[in-house]
Parts: sequence; structure tokens; C-alpha cells
Amino acid sequence: NPERVRKPDWIRVKAPVSKGYAETRKLMRELNLNTVCEEAACPNIGECWTKKHATVMILGDVCTRACAFCNVKTGMPRAVDKSEPGHVAEAAAKMGLEHIVITSVDRDDLPDGGASQFVKVINALRDQTPNTTIEILTPDFRNKASAAIEAIVAARPDVYNHNLETVPRLYPTIRPGARYYASLRLLESVKRHDPSIFTKSGIMLGLGEERLEVHQVMDDMRSAEIDFMTMGQYLQPTPRHTKVMEFVTPQNFNAYASIARAKGFLLVASSPLTRSSYHAGDDFARLRDA
Ligand code: SF4
Ligand code: SF4
Repeated sequence: NPERVRKPDWIRVKAPVSKGYAETRKLMRELNLNTVCEEAACPNIGECWTKKHATVMILGDVCTRACAFCNVKTGMPRAVDKSEPGHVAEAAAKMGLEHIVITSVDRDDLPDGGASQFVKVINALRDQTPNTTIEILTPDFRNKASAAIEAIVAARPDVYNHNLETVPRLYPTIRPGARYYASLRLLESVKRHDPSIFTKSGIMLGLGEERLEVHQVMDDMRSAEIDFMTMGQYLQPTPRHTKVMEFVTPQNFNAYASIARAKGFLLVASSPLTRSSYHAGDDFARLRDA
């Protein structure tokens, strides 16, 4: 009975109280930037912000979709903020970031789905912090995907991330606005346009998926030539969101990681508190320097 599933002690979260946390928070407010760390109520915020690692969420804090696992507000978003690309680059420079993760809400209301804002942010970062590696985590851009990908790939981010989130069987309940194979094809086409860009995707575990379904997702990802894979425990942000069906043990996360490595992913991150942007910079730097 999922009602009775209790948080196990391996999901321990420290209260965010450090100086680095306070400084990052202040900087984001000053520059009028949103972070997925706050909007998604991420359990790693204390650790990441202390280390000055944050995931910036561009294009506002209101999403046009309402996924069953996600804490971001749904509604009609505001106009695009023209000063945002400059502010993101300023935040990266002030924080001295070696690696930045940029994501956005879904903007199905915009004619280009928000792709041009991703391009502007990448260009501003290249201009002002040329040594910062750039990872973008994009929406699926629905029927605007092919133009969006062409534009973003031409701006040459270092890593292109788009999350599959869960196994295909659970899409109708967990990710109702999206199509599993459309997301896979998006990543495949990034690789086809520019094989030098690393592609990355991830899923949440604990939503009721079966082991063999997870293995199938890994195979699908590898057939789309996805380079990096992340797996983390789904946590219910509020009682209104979909329930946790299972807390996957750290041992099982390790077992999934071994299988993923054997299937040929270049980087695999798999643990209860892994999020798509968790330790992304450290892992990417290790791969580049190897
Ligand atoms: Fe932010 Fe990602 Fe760290 Fe969570 S794991 S706090 S979303 S950078
Ligand atoms: Fe959240 Fe992304 Fe779904 Fe919007 S599209 S509700 S931001 S997961």
C-alpha cells in the first residue's frame, strides 16, 4: 500500500544554512533569476548551493504543463525577460562557475517554444564566461522541436540534456503532455546534427516501474546514442502530487548503475538523491580530463 511507504533513512536531507547557500540565494534574487533547485524543492539544495552549484531556470517560473511529479506552478506565463541572458551570465561570472546547468519551464505558448532564449543565454555565457562549460536541460518543444533543436545545436552547448523522466508505460499518468518516442527522437537528432555535443537523459525511480522496463529505457537511450544517464529517487513534493510507490534501495541504484555502464553510457549517476544536475559539473570535468 503506497500510503504506508515511509521515507527511509538513506533519504536524509540537511537543512540549507551555510554561507554559500545564503550568498547564492541573494545573488539569484538580485538578478531576478529562478532556480530549479528552489522550484523543484530539490533535496540537495544545501549541498549544491554551499558549493555554488545551481541550476538556473529561464523563461519564468510558470509552466504551461502540469506533470504529476513536478512542483513548478502551472498557468499562463509572463512575457520573456530580455535582460535574462545577461543576468544568467552575470550570475555565472560572480559565482565563478566552471559548469552551469540551464533549464526552463515548458513554454508551449511561445512560437519557438523558448528556443531563442536558450540560444541567447548560451551566447551571453560564451561571451562573458568563456571557460564555463554549458549544460542545457530543455523541454521537448512539442511540434516545434526540429527548428528549436537546429537553433540550439548551432549555439553549441557542451551537454544537451532532456529527461525521459519515467518508463513509457507510465507516461499517460506521470508525463501526460509528452510522448516517450518524441523525447528519444529529440536527443537522437541533437547527436545527428552535431556529434561533438554530449547528450544526456534521466529517469526517476520509485514511480511503479519494473526492473525490466528500466533496462528497456537504457537500451532505447543507447539506440538514440545518448551519452550520459542519471537515475534518482522520486520524492513527492506535496500531497497533491503523484505518490511514491517504492523507495529503491541504494544497493538497487548501484545495480542499475552497473547495468547502465555495461550498456555503454559514458557517464552514469545513480543514487537516491541523484538529480539530473547533481554533481553534473564534477562528473563532466572528470570525463573531459580523463
Ligand atoms: Fe539544484 Fe540540481 Fe543541486 Fe538540486 S541537484 S540543488 S536542482 S543543482
Ligand atoms: Fe514541470 Fe517541466 Fe512538466 Fe513543466 S514540463 S510541469 S516544468 S516537469
